[in-house]
Amino acid sequence: MPELPEVETVRRGLAPVLEGARIARARVNRPDLRWPFPDRMAERLTGARVDRLRRRSKYILADLDTGETLIVHLGMSGRMIVSGGGEGRDMLAQFHHLHPAPEKHDHVILDTDAGARVTFNDARRFGAMDLCATDAVERHKLIAGIGPEPLGNAFNEAHLIAAFRGKRTPVKAALLDQGIVAGLGNIYVCEALHRAGISPLRHAGRIGAARVAALVPIIRAVLAEAIEAGGSSLRDYRQADGELGYFQHSFRAYGREGEPCQTPDCQGTIHRKVQSGRSSFYCPACQR
Ligand SMILES: [Zn+2]
Repeated sequence: MPELPEVETVRRGLAPVLEGARIARARVNRPDLRWPFPDRMAERLTGARVDRLRRRSKYILADLDTGETLIVHLGMSGRMIVSGGGEGRDMLAQFHHLHPAPEKHDHVILDTDAGARVTFNDARRFGAMDLCATDAVERHKLIAGIGPEPLGNAFNEAHLIAAFRGKRTPVKAALLDQGIVAGLGNIYVCEALHRAGISPLRHAGRIGAARVAALVPIIRAVLAEAIEAGGSSLRDYRQADGELGYFQHSFRAYGREGEPCQTPDCQGTIHRKVQSGRSSFYCPACQR
């Protein structure tokens, strides 16, 4: 399941293809994904120029010159594939190959006026697309109520300390709460808590203010490193199949049950415990 760094990597891969380009043709091959597509989606996209491609939490937002914004969520299995395109548009030069043969789960296909094609493929169909007025995006039902971006200025020590105060839920659940911080998922919460030396089982309200404050730069660093790894994948010719957003990245705790803890001087072993249906990987020796 893509987390924030994967979504940001997809955004960065799509930006040179879509920003400033006009959608010459939009094809929508089914009426819905997780939810029904908006009315006349293909007509509303066709002819529109993409002015800006941005990200809010795990949503990619394409601001169009029609005054609408296309909201995209990759869901569990959504993939963005870039193909075709002319020369001269920076990163697009990587994607010289012809358009791949259509696949069963290619649900939305956008062809740009520069000859590039963006294909949204989603086998499990937990993804979503919607159109809404650009000036109403923050009030859209999928986006209203989402907390501050973890890499933005509004996510800071004072915010997290206030959000955790009095909270009786485990810190793992608190960090997954999208109203407290946007876009954090299981993997990067495990990594941040391991690096911070905080047990995922500890109640958020029982962590001292200094340790909560220390979590903020750690969360930023964990995400920034992953986004950097994603950026490297975009420059990597192994990604030349045009698929964006999935990249190799090594984790210190996530997925390492039974392995020695990588914290310096720690003799512990990474344990796995299921919390609210999701696996927490942590070291009981150095995470308290
Ligand atoms: Zn340890």
